[in-house]
Amino acid sequence: MKTLRFNNGDELDAIGLGTWKSEPDKVQEAVISALKTGYKHIDCLAVYGNEAEIGHALQEAFQKNIIARKNLWITSKLWNNAHKAEDVIPALKQTLTDLQLDYLDLYLIHWPVAFRPDLKGSPEKDEDFLSLEEAPIIETWEAMLEAKSQGLVKHLGVANFSVKKLKDLIAKTDDPPEMNQVELHPFLHQDELLKFCHSNNIHLTAYSPLGSGDRSSEMKADDEPSLLDNEVIKSLAQQHEVTPAQILIAFHLHRHTAVIPKSTNSKRIKENLDSANVVLTEEDMAQLKSLDRHYRYVKGKFFKTSNGMYSNIYDE
Ligand code: NAP
Repeated sequence: MKTLRFNNGDELDAIGLGTWKSEPDKVQEAVISALKTGYKHIDCLAVYGNEAEIGHALQEAFQKNIIARKNLWITSKLWNNAHKAEDVIPALKQTLTDLQLDYLDLYLIHWPVAFRPDLKGSPEKDEDFLSLEEAPIIETWEAMLEAKSQGLVKHLGVANFSVKKLKDLIAKTDDPPEMNQVELHPFLHQDELLKFCHSNNIHLTAYSPLGSGDRSSEMKADDEPSLLDNEVIKSLAQQHEVTPAQILIAFHLHRHTAVIPKSTNSKRIKENLDSANVVLTEEDMAQLKSLDRHYRYVKGKFFKTSNGMYSNIYDE
């Protein structure tokens, strides 16, 4: 398995298990199945509503010696309603309680967007948001650093940050993010972001690598292109005698990023991990480059305010 190496020598397995939309009654079995198959990297978030069930799975795995805590990498993320400095550590502690862990390996600021601290669901009106003047990212970041200094988390990062937002944050701190988790796949290469991150010692994790087909219909565009049914990807799969999903996952290994396909199906969980054995050639990568159309499945259009405060979330 390829790994991403951090400054302190820690290594992250490049293929991890995504858990967004993994139903609470299925996720426990999925995590156990993944850990038995050889996954060592799980991606979580409190707002996915299944961290407690993942916590049960982790306890079961430790008790049955399926994996030891020190060999496991658990990522979770700070939700938008906990950006105020005083809310960061309590949010992280809640995640630790739910996951039944003493520390996380990686904690990310999920979006460069802040909600009112008491907002429980989705924002519906302007007042549900805080502006970045009211909740500056640097203050959230400093509270994340405090959590790290207390030993609650080993590594810190962000998600959905553009080059511009990374530059802003890097300019304001001596301890910059070590990870940026963003949408990446053959329809969305984001080469400029990849180059910037790699030249600034920031790892990338690719989310929605298979096209996130199980999102709710409200989150989907009518004319959404399919990665798994794409002819170029299907033909590469045939040539390598693997599945289209395995080509889509191997694409990220070639680009030296992590990738976190979600599945609750034990056969597909194994199939996805087995992508570690698929080696794409430069010619294969050139064919995948020809598919780049800057297409996002996660459009980030759900942060609507009348003054457009968060309308250009990706700065493009
Ligand atoms: P995804 O991994 O691209 O796609 C998940 C879908 O693919 C599910 O319907 C799954 O079904 C199916 N699938 C899994 N393996 C397959 C295979 N081998 N062949 C065919 N279909 C397969 O979508 P995602 O959940 O959006 O992204 C992955 C993870 O990234 C998330 O779960 C989450 O952890 C993270 N994420 C982070 C952010 C962020 O803003 N930071 C945003 C989105 C996602 P089954 O479960 O039935 O197998």
